[in-house]
Amino acid sequence: MHLRYGLILLLLFCFSLTAHSQTRDYWQQRVEYEMEIEMNAPDNQFTGTQKLTYHNNSPDTLRRVFYHLYFNAFQPGSMMDKRSRTIEDPDSRVRDRIYHLSEDQIGYHRIRSMNQDGESVDYRVDGTIMEVELDEPILPGASTVFQMEFESQVPLQIRRSGWKNREGVEFSMTQWYPKISEYDHEGWHPNPYVGREFHGVFGSFDVKIKIDSSYVMGATGNLQNPQQIGHGYQDPGTAVNRPGSDKLTWHWKADNVHDFAWGADPDFTHTTAQVPGGPMLHFFYQTDPVAANVSSGSRQDSLKAYWERLPEFTVKSFQFMNKHFGKYPYEKFSVIQGGDGGMEYPMATLITGNRSERSLVGVTVHELVHMWYHTVLANNESRFPWMDEGFTTYASALVTEHLYGERDFPHSGAYGSYYRIVEDGEEEALDTHADHFVTNRAYGVASYSKGAVFLNQLRYVIGPEAFDRGMKRYFETWKFKHPTGRDFLRVMEKESGMVLDWYYEYFIETTKTIDYGIETVVGKGDSTFVTLKREDLMPMPIDVLVEYSDGSKQQFYIPLRIMRGEKPNETPGIERAVLPDWPWVYPSYTFGIPEAPESISRITIDPTGRMADVNRENNVFEMEEATRVFETK
Ligand SMILES: [Zn+2]
Repeated sequence: MHLRYGLILLLLFCFSLTAHSQTRDYWQQRVEYEMEIEMNAPDNQFTGTQKLTYHNNSPDTLRRVFYHLYFNAFQPGSMMDKRSRTIEDPDSRVRDRIYHLSEDQIGYHRIRSMNQDGESVDYRVDGTIMEVELDEPILPGASTVFQMEFESQVPLQIRRSGWKNREGVEFSMTQWYPKISEYDHEGWHPNPYVGREFHGVFGSFDVKIKIDSSYVMGATGNLQNPQQIGHGYQDPGTAVNRPGSDKLTWHWKADNVHDFAWGADPDFTHTTAQVPGGPMLHFFYQTDPVAANVSSGSRQDSLKAYWERLPEFTVKSFQFMNKHFGKYPYEKFSVIQGGDGGMEYPMATLITGNRSERSLVGVTVHELVHMWYHTVLANNESRFPWMDEGFTTYASALVTEHLYGERDFPHSGAYGSYYRIVEDGEEEALDTHADHFVTNRAYGVASYSKGAVFLNQLRYVIGPEAFDRGMKRYFETWKFKHPTGRDFLRVMEKESGMVLDWYYEYFIETTKTIDYGIETVVGKGDSTFVTLKREDLMPMPIDVLVEYSDGSKQQFYIPLRIMRGEKPNETPGIERAVLPDWPWVYPSYTFGIPEAPESISRITIDPTGRMADVNRENNVFEMEEATRVFETK
């Protein structure tokens, strides 16, 4: 009896140990897509076949799978349409445009057959999501092959994908094929497409696209038949050997990517530039003013000049990113005019092109930085939109600073928009699923601006050396994977030797804000006592700068006790005193300066402005003014 009881306990113990280690082990699914598409360009339609080999590397048995059919969003009454017509601040590119699409302007995917390992399977389509009930479950560690035939209509370009964007680009082909949903440690992610973010499975793509031979195409991946295609892909100085047909089949392959995009237009100019030691860059843009929908000839001439100078900026940007954030791992990158703004895809971006030079460079920089924070470090963009948009905003500011020379504070835009939304009381936590923010503005500020502030402020918390090393370590540790916010944080904890859970919890998971102020400054003999007050909820380590009347300066640093560490002195030219830790539960903190008050001119909390202190008015204490106030009382 006792023995049996003991055995059961032992078995239970073993089981819980196994379960525990499984949840801690990282795994990810893998896919191999083989697709063949034939475009009917005049009708904006195509037929296609897809063979998808799916590897279940999870510890779970899968009994159903989900696909995204993004084009179905472009139909009146779709969730994207309804969302756009009911949200208080709709995207100006969408508004009610989906609602007014005619039959030949809507988008769709119609699935004609679906097989698993050669046997037909049942499926159901609800808007942009297709659910497939499997007859044969996919066991942990097993693979299966899905085969699908489909007929699709490309929607009139409204959001990201479509035919005839406003600049006259014929095909912006993004989110354009039935794409299997990601299954990860948080389960399936069959998010209906309402216009926001993505999460895809890493793997390989082998894509053949047959289209009228007049079209010039840019795409994810490497072209397998450049000598047959030509259009600027052939080896320089060699003859193109085209098959005698009015259509060409473009054969693309890409590995270690989680999506595949392309763009095509008969009027594209195609240029290239080599990044030394890095990828070959390809640029596709329109120079025909009629096709590009540009009214004045001189405007078109300057646009052409901007596009001709763009490669130089792009090369420099890649060099900067390779040096500071990890090496771009693919051989190629394409900048394709198309879409409705700028959108990142593996090894490619679609951007609009009728812009000022600065704006053209700006959007290209933003999208190419996404190759690090989206393509290679493929966080679930819906769950953690700040990890791709915020990180990209942060690094783009540094790239732009590098391209155009020093600025005082490259992240001032991000801090500014964060402060404004806090003041307006419309902030929503970063940890909100991208689809579920109440307003587009709250999504935008959280993801882009506060996400960038999160990084720059973390650099303040742990010091620039540990932070910069950490960004590279994050890249090396998590490349070609799906890091979560906590995974990033762990890298930074390891690199800095500090405990940072509090930082993540306050800044990512809540909208609690930072406000420190100088409450009192009291002289006593040859000493001055300064009392600081935490006026808001979020605790932080504090830099204080004391400026003396003789022009000299001294730094005081107050570590936060729960972070269990101190950053090194960031400006060794100015002497720094490390004060005792501030335990966060204490609302105020007093420290002494071994100088009489008369010798002090100014005391400043956070003199570099990197702490996102929402009320900076109480951060500076001018001794002279304060003394005068005291005397008049
Ligand atoms: Zn972005």
